[in-house]
Amino acid sequence: MGPFWTPEREEDLRQRFDRGETARTISRDYGVSRPTICGKLDRMGLKREIDGRRSQRRPKTIGNISLPPRPLKPIVPIKTAPLLLEIHELRPDSCRYIIGDPRSPAHRYCGLTSKPGQSWCPEHCDRVFGRMA
Ligand SMILES: [Zn+2]
Repeated sequence: MGPFWTPEREEDLRQRFDRGETARTISRDYGVSRPTICGKLDRMGLKREIDGRRSQRRPKTIGNISLPPRPLKPIVPIKTAPLLLEIHELRPDSCRYIIGDPRSPAHRYCGLTSKPGQSWCPEHCDRVFGRMA
């Protein structure tokens, strides 16, 4: 068994914390003790009055407007953007997938590193072969 706190779990904990879930709820979901969660939040610098004590504090307001809870950051998969190279900039292993209208002189090539033995990067290979299938 690896360490309990993986980066994924830390991120999950952070998001739950942002949503305002209590350490009690989180600990129950994780199957660990509440002090384990509190200690971890502490070490992550996520301090808050939790488990009810929060209600003793006045909500944060600007004028008479209550601040809405911080929106969750959407988890965006990391995608490599095409380099948009011109034909003379292509290396032998550059992806030759055409971006834009091939009949227009303004078109560009993807330019990412191709799959070995292919003319396209993995993503464009999928697109090209997916279209033929
Ligand atoms: Zn490509």
